Formats: sequence, C-alpha cells, structure tokens
Amino acid sequence: MIDPHVHLRDWEQSEKESLAHGLMVAKACKIAALFDMPNTNPPLTTRDAIVRRLNDAAALDSGVSYHIWAGLTAKPEQIREAVAIVDEFYPSVVGLKFFAGHSTGNMGLVDEGLQRSVYHHLAEANYEGVVALHCEKESLLEPHLYDPADFATHSKARPPASEVASITDQVRLADEAGFGGHLHICHLSTIEGLQVVEQARVAGVRISCGVTAHHLLLSEADASNRSLWAKMNPPLRSESQRRALFEAAVDGRIDWLETDHAPHTIADKEGGASGIPGFSGLLLAIRALIDSKVGPKQLERMLGGAVIELFGLEGIAVTIPSYEELSTLSDWAARQYPYDSFALLR
Ligand SMILES: [Zn+2]
Repeated sequence: MIDPHVHLRDWEQSEKESLAHGLMVAKACKIAALFDMPNTNPPLTTRDAIVRRLNDAAALDSGVSYHIWAGLTAKPEQIREAVAIVDEFYPSVVGLKFFAGHSTGNMGLVDEGLQRSVYHHLAEANYEGVVALHCEKESLLEPHLYDPADFATHSKARPPASEVASITDQVRLADEAGFGGHLHICHLSTIEGLQVVEQARVAGVRISCGVTAHHLLLSEADASNRSLWAKMNPPLRSESQRRALFEAAVDGRIDWLETDHAPHTIADKEGGASGIPGFSGLLLAIRALIDSKVGPKQLERMLGGAVIELFGLEGIAVTIPSYEELSTLSDWAARQYPYDSFALLR
C-alpha cells in the first residue's frame, strides 16, 4: 500500500517520533511507500534540508520507499527552488505542499494575495506537477468558539464552510494564474468540499482528493471523549458529514486514503497540539470498506493504484492485508504510539 500523507517529524521534534520508528511501523503495516510532509523542524523548503532528509531516510534501509512533498513559502526565489528540487529529485520528491491555511508548523499562506502570487510563480516556472493543498480558509475560522476542555468544539472553531471556501478559492486562483499542474486536496472533511472537487474536474481542472481514516470513521462526538485525543486539522465533523464521506468513499468518489499520521507526545496533546498518530486507523478503515462491500479492485486503487498512476511510480506493490490480518495489525499498530484515537472502534 501507499500512504501519500504522513508527518514523520524527527530532527528537532524527535521526542514525537523518529524517522526510523515511523518507517518501521509503516513497514509492519504493509505500507510500501510513504510521502512525508514538509512541516518538519527545520522545514523541508530548501534543497539542503531535503537532501539531508532523503539521506537520513536512505541510511535507515527501512524497506519502505520514502518520498517527500517539498514545502512552498511565499518567496518567489524559494518557489523557483522548490520547482527545481522536484525536477531534480522526482520521484523521491513527488511534488509541492501548499498550506492554504495554518496548521502545525506555521507554514500557512493564508492571505489571498499571497496565494495568488504562489500560483503565478508556479505558472511562470512552468510547473506541471502536483500541488498538495491543506484547505481551510483563515478568515472563516472562529477561534473563540474553541473550548480546550471539549475537542468537539474544534469543529466549530474551524467550521466546514472554511474548507469548502478554501477549496473553491484554490481552484479559482490556480485557474486565474494559468497554473498548469495538478491540484490535490488533502484530507477532505466535508461532502460539500468533495462536490467542489467534482465540479472542478467536470470543468477540466486536473484535481484529486484524499480522505483520512479518522474522517471516515470518527465524528465530533468521539472528539468529546477526551481520552481519545481526537483533535486535528481539519477537525472531525458531524455524524451526518462522516457518513456522507464514508458513502462517497464506498461509491469510489475519493481518489485515495491518506493517514495524515501526525505523532505527538501526550504532553503536546495536553497543550492542544493538533494531529493524531499511526496507521491503525487506516487498517480499520479498510475493514469498514470491505464490510460495506467495496471490492479488491477499488481498494487497490484507493490504497496505492491511483497514486502510482498519477505520479508514474514503478516497482511499488499494493498488497492489502487480509481481513483477519487487518484486525491483528491494527491492534499492534495502535500500541506503537502513546495514545489511540480509534480505541472506541476496537
Ligand atoms: Zn497533514
């Protein structure tokens, strides 16, 4: 399988997890390839940092194919450098990550003028690869609605409308700038967001979307159970949103699953950090999809086939564990991290 969205931390955040540990757990979970996100510390926005990261991963000889999304900043010269890095290192560097909203790591480019200029510079550099987008529109966030005692309020502070508006903005701004690449909308949390993606595709935009296991399996009611530490960006949504996204996945409307694996220490979570760890939820999500009669061909597509096709990858096997094995592996994988956000489903 392929997980095209993980945060392996390490470096200045090795207390959260090391590269070696993340790769070891992924390998044991039958994940053959990982795409790591750039909001590390230091961030993966320069050639030096990316070369160092690729070398660190290669030295581990983990048996997992390791890839990076290079981070975009607002600086024109950095954007040109990032495009050159993808050219030089593809497919070890698979594409560019654009945080169109703030999340962990302060890489957000939230001002519309800045966002427009990023697409303009990408178009000018003739970038035709993939841009992975974190979509939450900052001006629609309502941070005063967040109550640290109840993680379910996180969804009120970062409402569904902020995701939908951000996706709509990115499609429009990319088009206006003459951007010639492919937009990938990460971790969709709303069915309305999916509809924007589908309308754009019908209009000829090269676009895809991913959904996480937690948005397929958990809702804001689970977030209220503080022992699950189920706080992440974008947040868990209502049960009706969750069900609609799950049905969309069953119907084959989601291009691929991504874990958004984002390990933290318990102390970080107590301090309000967003992100949940591990691959166990992905394995539970596959079981749930099989329970809903999703066949092997569609599973193969959502768990690596579509990624292999979009990026033209070679030599990566998509092996999905058996139904029984998914259960055993998921239990084991949950124990590799200090807390398990899927505990209630086990
Ligand atoms: Zn992420």
